[in-house]
Amino acid sequence: MLHPPHQSSQVAAVPQQRVPVRDRDQDAPWHTEAVCRRDEAGLFFAPSKEPTAARLAREEAAKRVCARCPVLVECREHALLQPEPYGVWGGLTAAERRVVLARRRRRDVELKNTGRPVAAAG
Ligand code: SF4
Repeated sequence: MLHPPHQSSQVAAVPQQRVPVRDRDQDAPWHTEAVCRRDEAGLFFAPSKEPTAARLAREEAAKRVCARCPVLVECREHALLQPEPYGVWGGLTAAERRVVLARRRRRDVELKNTGRPVAAAG
């Protein structure tokens, strides 16, 4: 089982800039390049009984970290495929991932029934 890249128990250097794909080690697991590997601020998962305003601010801060992460796409797909039920993964909250998954399911049903895709899914 893959552990969330943003567990504080995992320690790694934090890259400050997006790493070009061609410079990345293609054999290394994607999470080894996760910008959030040291989530010392606790941005990616909600503490219990978090007020809504605090949650929204925390999630936006987590998304800003994700925006500069070189493995955003891999992380997002991992979270969608599992699916990961909690936390911010790949720049999406759990609620946003549920929307993407619902769109994908609708697209797949439409494609199966008509042979034509509906609007693009995330
Ligand atoms: S996209 Fe975000 S949650 Fe995923 S590894 Fe990068 S920083 Fe962490």
